[in-house]
Amino acid sequence: MTVEQHQFQAEVSKLLHIVANSLYSDKEIFLRELIANASDACDKLRYDAITNKDLLGSDSEFKVSIAIDKENKTITICDNGIGMDKNDLIKNLGTIAHSGTASFIEKASADKDNSMSLVGQFGVGFYSAFIVSDQITVKSLKAGDSQGWSWISDGTGSFSLEENNKKNRGTEITLHLKEGEEEFLEEIRLQTIVKKYSDHIAIPLMMVKEDKEEQINNASALWTRPKSDITEEQYKEFYHHTAHMPDDPELTLHYRAEGIISYTSLLFIPSSRPFDLFHPDRQNHLKLYVKRVFITDNCSELLPSYLRFVRGIVDSEDLQLNISREMLQKNPVLSKIRQGITKKILGELEKLQDKNPESYKKLWENFGAVIKEGLYEDPSLKETLFNLCRFHSLNSDEMISLDQYVDAMPENQKEIFYIIGESKEALKRSPQLEGFKAKNIDVLLLTDAIDDFWVPMITDYKETNFTSITRGKVDLDKIAESSDAKKTELDKETKQTLDSLIGKLKTELQDEVSDVRISERLTDSAVCLVADEGQMDIRLERLLKQQGKDMGPSPTKKIMEINSDHPLIKRLADLPKGQELLLKDAAHLLFEQAMLLEGEKLMNPKDFVSRINHFMEKAMDV
Ligand code: ADP
Repeated sequence: MTVEQHQFQAEVSKLLHIVANSLYSDKEIFLRELIANASDACDKLRYDAITNKDLLGSDSEFKVSIAIDKENKTITICDNGIGMDKNDLIKNLGTIAHSGTASFIEKASADKDNSMSLVGQFGVGFYSAFIVSDQITVKSLKAGDSQGWSWISDGTGSFSLEENNKKNRGTEITLHLKEGEEEFLEEIRLQTIVKKYSDHIAIPLMMVKEDKEEQINNASALWTRPKSDITEEQYKEFYHHTAHMPDDPELTLHYRAEGIISYTSLLFIPSSRPFDLFHPDRQNHLKLYVKRVFITDNCSELLPSYLRFVRGIVDSEDLQLNISREMLQKNPVLSKIRQGITKKILGELEKLQDKNPESYKKLWENFGAVIKEGLYEDPSLKETLFNLCRFHSLNSDEMISLDQYVDAMPENQKEIFYIIGESKEALKRSPQLEGFKAKNIDVLLLTDAIDDFWVPMITDYKETNFTSITRGKVDLDKIAESSDAKKTELDKETKQTLDSLIGKLKTELQDEVSDVRISERLTDSAVCLVADEGQMDIRLERLLKQQGKDMGPSPTKKIMEINSDHPLIKRLADLPKGQELLLKDAAHLLFEQAMLLEGEKLMNPKDFVSRINHFMEKAMDV
């Protein structure tokens, strides 16, 4: 018989290295992972057998068994599921197929102190068996095949493959335990682990005793049991199992919908962010069952993508068991279920806000940026979604709701002001905010990537318009009518000199800006840029440009606002005749500093530097 040697994919070797060298406190989870795989393998075959009965043969009762051999120091986990052929073994137990996982392992192996906890975030799966084993043999026969294959490895650089004479379909995994791991040879210990982690598995789990097999789990699908019979622990373990998530759920929703469409769903909202939350495919991870039979965990119809952080299962009574995965697209039953689940989840989130604000706060911090995608994807739900939204704001350390914002508005404020940027801290330094700060008018600080997209689409909240403070005109004095921080009226003479300065700046900067005007929003900075009323917000324009969207021949010109109270502007306005050259340079420097404050790149940094140098030299002349 020939034995083939294969190298592990580099990421697998890295992962195995982390696993073998970690002082992992939850060693016992290896059993959970292997049982989960065995149960998944049975689910897969049960699904395939709907269209091809022959695959089951005479062996139609699925089960998973665990046998201990104290003498040889081995544990064997055996299932009669779908099995793996030679190619499956190479692919499944030699590479890492999950999208995004490989780069994640790269990151984890670079972070020596936290590597295992990082790796734990996506579940080590089969490879976790190397925490306790120094050799693993996987004997498998794929359903429908006649030749079985064995995979053997000590979990270092390579594995070997050879033919075997396995007669019954399925997979048999034998772990040879490392020195010091003998506790796992105790039947009681294994039984306790199974009860703890795998009691919800819907297939019988058998312990092989001397002369018989004994069932050690409940073996009914957890979601079919009455809520009152299910403990919190059991819900948690089911969540770990279906979601492949290591944290505990923040929210658990178990309910049955009856009526025109009947289904049961057991849904979880994680308490931490799954690592692939912002993966470009934005897939949901709900599992679809039909009458207790697993159909797929890749059904985009089941949940809108702005709820893709929700985990769990949906079990439908109305779909045909033999529905093909292709037929799930545009399926009217599924779209009804989707509506039902969406409504339920949003409704429960709404309740949670009042029932447990702390928990809701955490949930929003984790998933708010995703939920807000709903404003863009399904604006018809804006009332409901806005009710869930929380925002950072200038005047509040805690995130606030739109109602809180609107309730705190002064009588004369008729708009909801916002500014969009990278981070709260950076935004708080924006020159455009200065006047709002001085007059104590609150502004929403929007910092999520999705904010750029929903804001231009949705104009108002309960008929109060959203207004960008980096666009158009604002009359802060009118809003803060009662405030002491009112700007003093300019006298006629000052007004004239300012107007003349503005005229000069306009002429000098005619290629750079569309207009120059006195600002209402500046108190400390000398200048800032704003977009004109009908123009795109400055940041959105930049974002689209970064994404390579055609913005026309050149970026649209902005309006430069000047702060008439700023000493520099005052001095410039009073500049005696004959200083035209100085004013020219100053005009460009003002524009350039406004660009820099905006986070924009300068078109011509070299000219900027020589202008600065010129002024520095002049300053030293004194
Ligand atoms: P995951 O279960 O998260 O996909 P694992 O590393 O645990 O990752 O397993 C990798 C793959 O190997 C599984 O997706 C499955 O296709 C296959 N596999 C593992 N165990 C079994 C088994 N007992 N029977 C059939 N296939 C299995």
